[in-house]
Amino acid sequence: MSGPTDPRISVIGTGYLGTTHAVCMAELGFEVVGVDVDAERVRRLAAGEVPFFEPGLEALLRKHLEAGRLSFTGSPAAAVDQADVHFVCVGTPQRPDSGAADVRHVDAAVSGLVTAGLGPGDLVVGKSTVPAGTASRLAARLAAAAPGAELAWNPEFLREGIAVDDTLHPDRIVLGVAPGGTAEARLRAVYARMTDAGTPVIVTDYATAELVKVAANAFLATKISFVNAMAEVCDATGADVAELAAALGHDPRIGPRFLRAGIGFGGGCLPKDIRAFQARARELGVGPALGFLAEVDAVNMRARDRAVALAHEVLGGQPANRAVGVLGAAFKPNSDDIRDSPALDVAVALRRAGCHVSVYDPAAAANAQDRHPDLHVAGSVMGAVTGAELLLVLTEWPEFRELDPALIRPHVTRPVVLDGRGALDARRWQEAGWAYHALGRPARG
Ligand code: NAD
Repeated sequence: MSGPTDPRISVIGTGYLGTTHAVCMAELGFEVVGVDVDAERVRRLAAGEVPFFEPGLEALLRKHLEAGRLSFTGSPAAAVDQADVHFVCVGTPQRPDSGAADVRHVDAAVSGLVTAGLGPGDLVVGKSTVPAGTASRLAARLAAAAPGAELAWNPEFLREGIAVDDTLHPDRIVLGVAPGGTAEARLRAVYARMTDAGTPVIVTDYATAELVKVAANAFLATKISFVNAMAEVCDATGADVAELAAALGHDPRIGPRFLRAGIGFGGGCLPKDIRAFQARARELGVGPALGFLAEVDAVNMRARDRAVALAHEVLGGQPANRAVGVLGAAFKPNSDDIRDSPALDVAVALRRAGCHVSVYDPAAAANAQDRHPDLHVAGSVMGAVTGAELLLVLTEWPEFRELDPALIRPHVTRPVVLDGRGALDARRWQEAGWAYHALGRPARG
């Protein structure tokens, strides 16, 4: 529980990251105020409603609203009045021209705090994913405009779908700080429960802290694209990428995770982060060092096209007016996030090719319908599957992985499945009478 000398916390930007962070800081016992420019979002959060799907988050939000430990406002002045540690969690979207990160919301968030009277005793903590160099630029700005206020960079590694657990039990805590300040001690006080439980803390300079985040995402993206590149080679040789990946994963230097071939990565982070990283490297004159990330991106986008091509092939090259059931719209399971979703891209491409596509997703259906009003969105698995000549599983929701192929078989016109995530037990589907197709795997049945 917090005491009178504990940090009082504000969180600027209450999207996927900021809402989770604010709620989890309250769960740690701190007084927290969340600030967002989106008035509707503030209203919903203050009413106890999480405006997106994240397991476990809404119950904790309500618990801390009721305890009076957590509040939401549109006013940065409330943050400066009520708090002294200010976490900046605003979006850093991709700029359409260069692929670079657009940091204007980060600048606006800091400006809002400065205008509201930020000063001695205040610590601004960046959590947004930003290009290396942003923190030192902001620190110089604070030194001029809000003398006495400090800046730290504390990148965030949470994964949507398990964001609460990731925030309360992180793998590591990275603190980018300026020498000689109070930031490290104050952030250690914020994260004491995690560090007492053994979470490692890496204290470093601003640029290293900023780079840890984008380097981690670059590595993860590379691992996924590596196995998807292997899937392309498997398709050319008749090999089986699932068996190849299983064999590779036994090597502890490689490991089995993030090594499942499929339609690739998406969402609001990995794709934009690897593009922004390349753009920043070019600005810094080290573009060639990250040249491989262009290939990682290309392999990833090709996986979506390859899935569409495989669907066409399975439909005998005649997609027009064919009934196709799609399971999955979110970019990953346990999320309603459809930002840069491979599943939705594939579904939309099939519809554009003339298929009658019916999509079901347990959480992202409404977002998919908003984004693509002309897409048919079903209310259940059976709704999407019934009458289909081809079924595609494009998001790895547990309820799709656990589907009983024998139970759905009578509802389809032709029992043909395309497993876009390597999520299904191919033999089980085959034994239930289905033809099974996946990228990088020989067709079965
Ligand atoms: P988001 O788009 O869901 O949320 C951003 C929020 O910031 C929105 O609610 C927006 O209204 C608000 N905002 C914008 N300008 C503001 C301002 N000046 N003052 C107050 N609020 C403002 O984005 P997100 O997914 O939460 O990502 C936020 C940052 O965290 C990004 O840099 C992202 O790369 C990084 N990140 C995200 C995740 C994730 O899983 N989503 C994980 C790690 C890091």
